[in-house]
Amino acid sequence: MNKRILTAALALALSFSAHSQSISAKAREIHNSALVIDTHADTPQRFLDENYDIGSTDPKDNGHISLDKAKAGNLGAEFFSIWVDPGTNQGHFARHTLDLIDSVYEQAARHPDRMMMAFSVADIERAHREHKLAALLGIEGGHSIENDIRLLRDFYRLGVRYMTLSWSNTNEFADSSGDINNPKVEHHNGLTEGGKQIVLEMNRLGMLVDVSHVADKTFWDTIAVTKAPVIASHSSARALTNHPRNMTDDMLRAVAKNGGVVQVNFYSAFIDETYRKAAEAQSKDRDAAVKAYTDQLKAAGKTVTYLDEDRVEREWAARIPRPPLSSLIDHIDHVAKVAGIDHVGLGSDFDGVSGATPQGIDSAADLPKITQALVDRGYSADDIRKILGGNVLRVFREAERVSHELTK
Ligand SMILES: [Zn+2]
Repeated sequence: MNKRILTAALALALSFSAHSQSISAKAREIHNSALVIDTHADTPQRFLDENYDIGSTDPKDNGHISLDKAKAGNLGAEFFSIWVDPGTNQGHFARHTLDLIDSVYEQAARHPDRMMMAFSVADIERAHREHKLAALLGIEGGHSIENDIRLLRDFYRLGVRYMTLSWSNTNEFADSSGDINNPKVEHHNGLTEGGKQIVLEMNRLGMLVDVSHVADKTFWDTIAVTKAPVIASHSSARALTNHPRNMTDDMLRAVAKNGGVVQVNFYSAFIDETYRKAAEAQSKDRDAAVKAYTDQLKAAGKTVTYLDEDRVEREWAARIPRPPLSSLIDHIDHVAKVAGIDHVGLGSDFDGVSGATPQGIDSAADLPKITQALVDRGYSADDIRKILGGNVLRVFREAERVSHELTK
């Protein structure tokens, strides 16, 4: 590294973190020696709806991901979430899925020197060697395939490397934790026979099976049928924060036995019981405010996007005090203890939680603070590197191996 680049890198690191002095030399060294992988960011909503450029250097931008922020946090690979809002895309889920996939490719095309599309473990490692952000695609919600296994294969061919079996909505083949207690929704008691075929086809293709968001019974049905290790791309621990999106200790142990990994979600309502209760208490009024605002837009003939809803959600989220960073670290620690150190990682949910992240975590640039907190709790360098990315890389490699076994 020449001096000019070194100075630029230093300025970049300082510009994002007023607390950079709080990262010790030891933590910095461990963090920078890791291949850091985050398995869930909703930034594609921004790419598509506001034509956000990941190369943005706007200091006022409150988004979690940019190439500069990724560089400052030594983020090596990001799984960009391809999430189709079922409420605003009725009748064209697959088309909107394609539009979102395109939005990620377009970002990579704009910044070929700093970012590349990645479809395999080898690609992630190559991007890391070339100091580029590896961009991967994960579909969040089985409704994207419109109950057509051919579309699943098409999305694989376009580069999609995980699919969350359901989002918050129950779809044709998988029950969701988001509506499992809603009697108006028709449920299947977990995964349908067709859903089991979809899981097996994902195993055959080498697409990671993602159990975040699914109903508990769907989780158990998936664990019983899958031939490859699963991931929970962005899920935290229910024993600490009692949210149905989080995983019970039995589920954590089952993922460990399956060889998979639980990537801990940073969302304040999933990692802090006080915050969760406060968010729940305001949910009725908040939802009404979102509806009033979006109805107003619709009446004016405008198309409502996630960002419109997010604008109102942010105002409400800002009324609740942010939880301490230790709440997030408690979840990582809990999963490491219950499932084991080989089965825990990071699934931030960046750009998908309306700014509701714990104190100190304002963007990908703050990821070294997690490493510092783990050092403070006595985690070894090797264990920290597993959490930061080593574990999910192992699971991805194993899914590739299973795919190879099933197709030869
Ligand atoms: Zn999600």
